[in-house]
Amino acid sequence: MKLLESFFKIVAPDCCISCGQEGKLICDDCAQVSFDAMPRCYRCKKPDPNSLTCAKCSKNSPLNAVYVAASYKNLAKDLVHACKYQSSRSAARIMSEQISVALPYLDPEQTIITHSPTTPSRIRERSFDQSGIIAKNIAIKLHLLKANLLVRMTNTHQVGATHKQRIAHMDGAFEVKNPILFKGKTVLLVDDVLTTGATLESAARTLRRSGAKRVIACVFARTE
Ligand SMILES: [Zn+2]
Ligand SMILES: [Zn+2]
Repeated sequence: MKLLESFFKIVAPDCCISCGQEGKLICDDCAQVSFDAMPRCYRCKKPDPNSLTCAKCSKNSPLNAVYVAASYKNLAKDLVHACKYQSSRSAARIMSEQISVALPYLDPEQTIITHSPTTPSRIRERSFDQSGIIAKNIAIKLHLLKANLLVRMTNTHQVGATHKQRIAHMDGAFEVKNPILFKGKTVLLVDDVLTTGATLESAARTLRRSGAKRVIACVFARTE
C-alpha cells in the first residue's frame, strides 16, 4: 500500500460502496453478491463456455476471446465509478481479482499482458489510468509479463458516439511500442468496461498487424 493511501485510510476509512457500512470498500455481506457474467461470444452474444469469438464473428474480429467478470450494473457499476472517478485503488484491486478468476490458465512463456490506454489528456486530468493499474495487478497475480505495448494516437472522446462513429474514430487510434516483446505470442488486452468492443478491436488489429499470434481481451464489466 502506498504511504499516502495508508494515511487516508486512517483519516477516512473505506465505506462499503453498496450499503455504506464502514471498514471495507465492499463489506463481507455485499461481497457475497456474485459477479458472474455468462461467458459468450462478445460480438453476437452467443453463449460459449470458453468466451471464444464464434467462427462467424471471427471473420470480422481480430479478437480470439473476450473474458468478462461482471455485468455493468449494481455493485459492478459502483466499483467502476469508484475506480474511474475517485481513483480508488481498492476498487481496482477488487476488479483485478474478479477478472483473474474469469481468466483461463495462460502460459507465462507465451503470453504478455498490456492495457488499452486512455487518451493522454485524460490521464493528465486524472493521473490515474485504471486499466493500466488493473493490468499490473493481474500480471502479478497470474505471473505474466506486463508491458506497455500501445500508444493512443487520437484524442476522440467516445461518450455519446454511435457504434459507427466509434469505429470510424478508432481507425488508426493506436500505435504499437516494443513489438519485439510480443512477436509470435498471445497478447492479453485489459480494459475496464466493454461496450461495443470497437476500442479493443482497434487495439487488437494493430497488435496482430505488428506480429501478435493471438489477441485476447479481458474486461471487468460489460454493458448488456
Ligand atoms: Zn456492504
Ligand atoms: Zn459471434
